[in-house]
Amino acid sequence: MTEKGILIVISGFSGAGKGTIVKRLLQTYDNYALSVSMTTRPPRDGEREGVEYFFTDREHFEAEIERSGLIEYAMYCGNYYGTPRAYVEEQLRAGKDVILEIEIQGALKIKEQFPESLLVFVTPPNAKELERRLVGRGTESQEVIQKRLARASEESEGMESYDYIVVNDDLEKCVEELNCLVDAARRAPVRRRGFIKEIRDELKGFAKGAE
Ligand code: 5GP
Repeated sequence: MTEKGILIVISGFSGAGKGTIVKRLLQTYDNYALSVSMTTRPPRDGEREGVEYFFTDREHFEAEIERSGLIEYAMYCGNYYGTPRAYVEEQLRAGKDVILEIEIQGALKIKEQFPESLLVFVTPPNAKELERRLVGRGTESQEVIQKRLARASEESEGMESYDYIVVNDDLEKCVEELNCLVDAARRAPVRRRGFIKEIRDELKGFAKGAE
């Protein structure tokens, strides 16, 4: 039987390199599926509808909340972000490991609803490097960068809620590490319920025969 896939939450400070890591993970291995979030944030240059995000307005987003179309959502720096339910459930059922690249409030809501999810926090080696990456990206104003750094400081308070912390100082190493964590998680009994039941039932059959 196909075990359900693992729901993987990847969080990290804005500028930690989550996006690049996830992209590389998807290119390298074929067991992953990436959930595309919905947001009310305006698209950045080069971002495409349905690829980086589903861009929408507040009214439509709130209607989605109302009809339970999102498995979680959060407000981040003045904009809504949320995970559409249908895709995630469908892919997990098909045995894919589904990646959600979301911030901490959403991550905690996912852990509550799906205790078997795997929460990974990606961080640069130090704060100075984070600032350097945010400035270097050149996509945000100084004001937005300040907001994101302040938010990073708040988010650092929640790092203990994650199952693992991955330090991103080398992309390839980081991608491999992440894949190893998922591989290890797959072997945990909470995620092998189907297998456990199957072998237990078989063993019971044998035990009966020996009576
Ligand atoms: P950005 O504006 O830089 O694309 O994203 C800002 C933050 O929102 C990032 O930390 C990102 O991981 C998070 N985010 C993206 N999509 C979602 C989502 O569906 N739900 C939640 N809770 N956070 C999200």
